[in-house]
Amino acid sequence: MIINTAQQDKYRCPRCGLTDRVVKASVSEKVSTPQRTRDGAPLMYESPWGCFSVGFIIFSVAAFLFVNIVDTAIHSTTGLRDFLVTFGLIIIVILIAIHHFQKAEKSRVEVARNNAELEARNEAGRKRYQHEVEIYQQLYYCERDDVVFKLGRPETCAPASQVNSLYEFL
Ligand SMILES: [Zn+2]
Repeated sequence: MIINTAQQDKYRCPRCGLTDRVVKASVSEKVSTPQRTRDGAPLMYESPWGCFSVGFIIFSVAAFLFVNIVDTAIHSTTGLRDFLVTFGLIIIVILIAIHHFQKAEKSRVEVARNNAELEARNEAGRKRYQHEVEIYQQLYYCERDDVVFKLGRPETCAPASQVNSLYEFL
């Protein structure tokens, strides 16, 4: 039988110098697999317009039109008090509308910024995970010494419990 020593050396455990107890890290339960970080969920834009604000605006505009057009047409005059009340409602409606438009715009900008940052974080997480899986598949484990190492790279030899530190510099 021809023993290819160069081939054998690659699998040699840097700690004990033997190959008999060396297995691929992915088949050993002693080496923890890379953990995928869960992607964060994007924020959803929520409109500040609700039943109450829309209902109030419709009511105010209807009241204003009724008092100042319909009632005026029937009685050929509008009471100052009615006019002031409905005019006041219209002012409130305008303030509500301005406030809601500003709030909606601010909220849209914030949601977009938040989701862009989130996507960048998710993407970085995916890249890190892919990198770790790539390294993990090249790692070997010596059952005798409980160490892991990258094939042909004896300087990477580290305790199996510290496998995460290998991902950092490999
Ligand atoms: Zn060993």
